[in-house]
Amino acid sequence: MQYEIIPVTGFQQNCTLVWCDSSKDAAVIDPGGDLDKILARVEALQLKLSQIWLTHGHIDHAGGTGELAEKLNLPIIGPHKEDEFWLEALAQQSQMFGFPAAQPFTPTRWLEDGDEVKLGEESFQVIHCPGHTPGHVVFYHEGAQFAQVGDVLFQGSIGRTDFPKGNHGDLIRSIREKLFPLGDDIRFVPGHGPMSTFGRERESNPFCSDPNYG
Ligand SMILES: [Zn+2]
Ligand SMILES: [Zn+2]
Repeated sequence: MQYEIIPVTGFQQNCTLVWCDSSKDAAVIDPGGDLDKILARVEALQLKLSQIWLTHGHIDHAGGTGELAEKLNLPIIGPHKEDEFWLEALAQQSQMFGFPAAQPFTPTRWLEDGDEVKLGEESFQVIHCPGHTPGHVVFYHEGAQFAQVGDVLFQGSIGRTDFPKGNHGDLIRSIREKLFPLGDDIRFVPGHGPMSTFGRERESNPFCSDPNYG
C-alpha cells in the first residue's frame, strides 16, 4: 500500500491518494476540491483511480466529490449514513465557507463500523468515529500501520464539536477507545496539518492524551 497527501482547498485539507502497489488501483480519500491538482498527481503516478472514499460530509473534504464522480464515473464510498444531513447541506456549506458550488451527490455505499473497503490486493478497515460529525469514519490499513482519520484527531489537537450533532464525549471515546487501541506505532494522516502517530498523541495531546500512558 502506498499513499500521497495532496492538500486541497483554502482550508489545506489533506486529500490523500492511496493505492495498491501491484495493480496501481487507487482511491482518493476526501477530494474536497482542486480536482485538477488531484488528477495531475493521479496521472504523474500512473494510477488507475477507481474509487472515492469519504471520511465525513464537510465541504472541505467532500466538496469535489460529485464533480469527480461524474467526470470519471467513480463509485462514492462512505461516510456513515449519519452524515447524510451534512451531504444534503453541501450547497449551504459552499456558501457559508466561500467554496465553489458543490455538485450534489448520493454515496454509492454508506459505511458501517467494521466494514472493509478494498483496493486491488489491499484492504482497509472502516472504523466509525462519531464526535466531530455523527457519521465520521476512519480508514485503517493494518499491514501498513496507516490510518486516515479526517477531522477526528490532529497532531496536538482534536476535531471541533460545536457543529450540529457534534459531541465532545463521543469524540474522546472514539479516539481513546477505537483509535488508540490500534497501537502506538500507527501513523495517521489527519484532515489538516502534519502526520503523527497514535502513540505520540496518546502521550502528549492536551485534549485526549491517556493519563495512564507510559
Ligand atoms: Zn470536518
Ligand atoms: Zn476539515
